[in-house]
Amino acid sequence: MSDQGPEAGLLYLDGLAYLPGIAHAFETRHGSIRDALPSPVARLQQVHGNTVLVLPHDRDRRLPFLEPDTADRPPADALTTNTSGVTVAVAVADCLPILIADPDRGAVAAVHGGWRGLARDIVATVLARMAEEFGSSPADCSVGIGPGIGPCCYEVGEEVITAFDAVGMKDAALQLPGRPQSDKRGPRGAAEGVHCNLPAVATAQARRCGVPAERVFGLDLCTRCHSDDLWSYRRLGNAAGRMLAGIAVIR
Ligand SMILES: [Zn+2]
Repeated sequence: MSDQGPEAGLLYLDGLAYLPGIAHAFETRHGSIRDALPSPVARLQQVHGNTVLVLPHDRDRRLPFLEPDTADRPPADALTTNTSGVTVAVAVADCLPILIADPDRGAVAAVHGGWRGLARDIVATVLARMAEEFGSSPADCSVGIGPGIGPCCYEVGEEVITAFDAVGMKDAALQLPGRPQSDKRGPRGAAEGVHCNLPAVATAQARRCGVPAERVFGLDLCTRCHSDDLWSYRRLGNAAGRMLAGIAVIR
């Protein structure tokens, strides 16, 4: 994998990079978003739920989000803000980092998209919160999906597919690259296990909320397939580090 940006070891989505007043970056194993995005970098104690927090404008109330130790930060899986000059970020190693930008209202969000959060409609929850807090319309939002485990490598148990079925996301979860979503056949024989497509689920959730298809972007990079450059928990287990994905309003 070659570096796609001016800062070594960071990845960018063109669809987000050209939005006015917005800056974003996805870390690989070889770079830090702190070299490219505004400080401070606000983070969460990620707990695989669907809670969305709004970053406080007040500096003192913002401090818990800047704590170096995960356990000291507020528990949630998405963080949104319209404060400029502050980066909101999530940490991942196989789970999807999802960045949302509304350049019209000057609002952004960083979302930790593991299967549990996605099965609880976390993308829809974030978009609803951005509408409530900032007046953001999904039609004006862009959604960027960073590196995460791909359908090639994400074999899951039935409980995962059952959970996606409960929120109307089974077809997206079972989508394989190159196969139309309308094809209802299972992805592979049962003996091979079921492969789950988290990027397709995130895309389907954003689309269902009203984000235009041309504003949903993905890097299409599987962490497990590219574990020399990307941290993959499934490949490396406890030896895997975490990569930050961050986004900021910069006007
Ligand atoms: Zn893969």
